[in-house]
Amino acid sequence: MKFAAKRLENLPPYLFAEIDRKRDLLVAEGHDVISLGIGDPDMPTFEHIVDRMKDAIYDPTNHKYPSYAGAPRYREACAEFMKKRFDVEVDPATEVLALIGSKEGIANLFPAFVDPGHYTLIPGVGYPVYDGGAIINDSLSHWMPMNDENEWLADFESTPAEVLKKSQMMILNYPNNPTSAIAPVEYFDKAIAFARKHGLLLIHDNAYVDVTFDGYVAPSILERPHARECCIELFSTSKSYNMTGWRCAFAAGNAEAIKTLGIVKSNIDSGIFTAIQDAAIEAFLGPQDEVEKMKALYQERRDAVLSTLEKMGIEAVQSKGTIFIWAKVPEGYTSAEFAEKVLMDAHVIIAPGTAYGPFGEGYFRISLATPTPRLIEALDRMKKLM
Ligand SMILES: *Cc1c(COP(=O)(O)O)cnc(C)c1O
Repeated sequence: MKFAAKRLENLPPYLFAEIDRKRDLLVAEGHDVISLGIGDPDMPTFEHIVDRMKDAIYDPTNHKYPSYAGAPRYREACAEFMKKRFDVEVDPATEVLALIGSKEGIANLFPAFVDPGHYTLIPGVGYPVYDGGAIINDSLSHWMPMNDENEWLADFESTPAEVLKKSQMMILNYPNNPTSAIAPVEYFDKAIAFARKHGLLLIHDNAYVDVTFDGYVAPSILERPHARECCIELFSTSKSYNMTGWRCAFAAGNAEAIKTLGIVKSNIDSGIFTAIQDAAIEAFLGPQDEVEKMKALYQERRDAVLSTLEKMGIEAVQSKGTIFIWAKVPEGYTSAEFAEKVLMDAHVIIAPGTAYGPFGEGYFRISLATPTPRLIEALDRMKKLM
């Protein structure tokens, strides 16, 4: 007997399974293995946010079922954040929806907006939930080409007409995981025009809006003309405030789409613990100087990684944001082979580019979310390897 729906056979194999197995063997032999594979901030949540939680958790009104869409004060704070940060006005009642992390929001986009057998245009390398969410919904993914030549800006224009005819949604993500690419606003404008022309809901996953370098300020897609007609944007406390464990995010944008997503969610979950929403209000509207320190720290690590890779003769995207470095595997290796060599010979875990989609072959990803001394140690080992 097999207790698994047939659709699950379409999920890609877990690429880290083999890496995890080899790591366990190395660790059992007493080796010190450093992981540069994980996209989870190594620093704690900022103290003023944790302090807010300390009070919120004792408030008995927070102990009840939360509001499905998010507490009114939470949605108002999200709207205020959008106004302060991007000068974008959204109606907290109709254009904002609380999410239990953006991963939850992304997974629920598919049943909300894509019919079985229809397509979502997703980045050629991207967050694995984009494709996984489509598969679990019995719908299809079209991987938009992404490469060095198009500067990792997903090419929606090349989508075949027969795919477009059956497409209902397109997902973009800039600053981009895994490539660290950023998008000029003209690109967003083209994407909005394309979405409107073809009747697509355009999702912008803005998880790294606060992790940017060299003074670059990432925009909201909702700043752009006509975005409100076809876009939902996702914001998360995870990477901005080191809050991955808290599971707190929001969607903002087109009111009809927000309402539809809310209908799906109200059949699945019952909202975010209200005390966490209170802490997140402090994150969005409280002092932002810890965010600046965090950016400076990641930028230092970025510089260390890029200069080491250069010394190794390895080409990498000159990152302007995210907690990742995206680099080319040396001549003569596939992504998987190179990741295995680095693990076996340097005892360092890197992520093979193919874990993120078909356009990842020939690349690997290094996470900057590793304590600096460990990151330096890992880089030293990699340098010796080459
Ligand atoms: C980390 C990340 C998220 C954040 O997910 P949460 O569920 O909010 O923690 C979303 N999208 C991308 C591309 C990410 O890398």
